[in-house]
Amino acid sequence: MVERDPTYRRASSALSASAIRQQFSTPVNIQLSQFGVEFLRRAGTVLSVDGDRPNVDLYEPGYLFLATAAGLPVLKQNHRVQRDQGVDVALLSPDELAARFPWLTTGDLAGGSLGLSGEGWFDGYSLLQAFRRKAQSLGVRYLAREVTGFARAGSRVTSVTLDDGSTLPCDAAVNAAGPWAARVAAMLDVDLPVRARRRPVFVVACRETLPRCPLVIDTSGVWFRPEGQYFVTGTSPKEGDEDPDDAPLEVDERIFHHPIWPALAARVRAFEALKLVRSWAGYYELNVFDHNGIVGPHPSLANVVFANGFSGHGLQQAPGVGRAVAELIVDGGYRSLDLAPLSFTRIVEGQRLMELNVI
Ligand SMILES: Cc1cc2nc3c(=O)[nH]c(=O)nc-3n(C[C@H](O)[C@H](O)[C@H](O)COP(=O)(O)OP(=O)(O)OC[C@H]3O[C@@H](n4cnc5c(N)ncnc54)[C@H](O)[C@@H]3O)c2cc1C
Repeated sequence: MVERDPTYRRASSALSASAIRQQFSTPVNIQLSQFGVEFLRRAGTVLSVDGDRPNVDLYEPGYLFLATAAGLPVLKQNHRVQRDQGVDVALLSPDELAARFPWLTTGDLAGGSLGLSGEGWFDGYSLLQAFRRKAQSLGVRYLAREVTGFARAGSRVTSVTLDDGSTLPCDAAVNAAGPWAARVAAMLDVDLPVRARRRPVFVVACRETLPRCPLVIDTSGVWFRPEGQYFVTGTSPKEGDEDPDDAPLEVDERIFHHPIWPALAARVRAFEALKLVRSWAGYYELNVFDHNGIVGPHPSLANVVFANGFSGHGLQQAPGVGRAVAELIVDGGYRSLDLAPLSFTRIVEGQRLMELNVI
């Protein structure tokens, strides 16, 4: 494992909102999250080292997707796909929403989709460290180096070049470079449509508590969820908004004041009085082709596996994608979950995988 920054200061996995949902619109994303939540529930056991059980602090209060009349048909369409996949999800009317969540402003809503189990949030940084510790206990060596190139023989990579000039021979290589994955791909002459796009997270204090509060996806695109005594919230730029590549990881607090806070206050009256406690920003490793993960080999390379471009849902998919990558390398093909819909080939062939629930 070659990791240039063992502090993970800028890694998305350390800066994530660390939530998991089953409410996607494509079976492959749903199946990855179904495996993800099962894994997180068992993480203390599966990732224990010498009897020391990590705590990834999984909570499952659900996701709540809200819709106005305009958004309701999509919610219903997604609901059908999710029910077909066995997702524990309920469509609620505005009255049912108001009864369940009295703190929610429902006047403009036509409905909401609430995950009843298997959705919530966890401690992403603890998960990252638990994976690292478990891997090391099983014999994986971590090198605090930067990958700067590859040596090839035909369509095979034979070694990885590191920033101290040394080389690491390899039978197979995995590009797991997150928001920087396109740079690593370029070292292999592969054009990977993944860009580092800054996304902020704001931690806010509210005097009131919101009983049974799930992770709410508002009709405005703003999301919020409880985090201990606080709430965390954020949003992604709308179509047409400025969203430059590789923006410095500094938070633009103007985004909190507009559009986030007005949207929060319109949805929850108690949020009219909020205190901004702190904020951070991380990079979405955005797949600008179709906003979904890219998993598997590139047609031009026999022994390089890509695991990139998860576009805001990569932490919850990490356990399933990790298993799938291992199957590709060890067994030569998928054994448990077929991730062919996420293949690099779809990009080369120009076939988009349309996921309607991208946040
Ligand atoms: C604000 C925010 C909120 C998010 N919310 C969620 C969420 O709620 N749920 C969810 O599932 N996902 C969420 N995500 C997305 C999720 O965090 C990412 O998809 C996931 O963490 C990506 O993991 P990764 O290991 O691919 O990348 P990273 O965690 O970024 O790791 C990549 C690593 O590669 C290293 N690296 C890069 N280039 C080189 C090189 N040349 N040599 C050596 N090392 C190199 C980097 O140092 C880095 O540590 C969110 C992301 C952000 C930013």
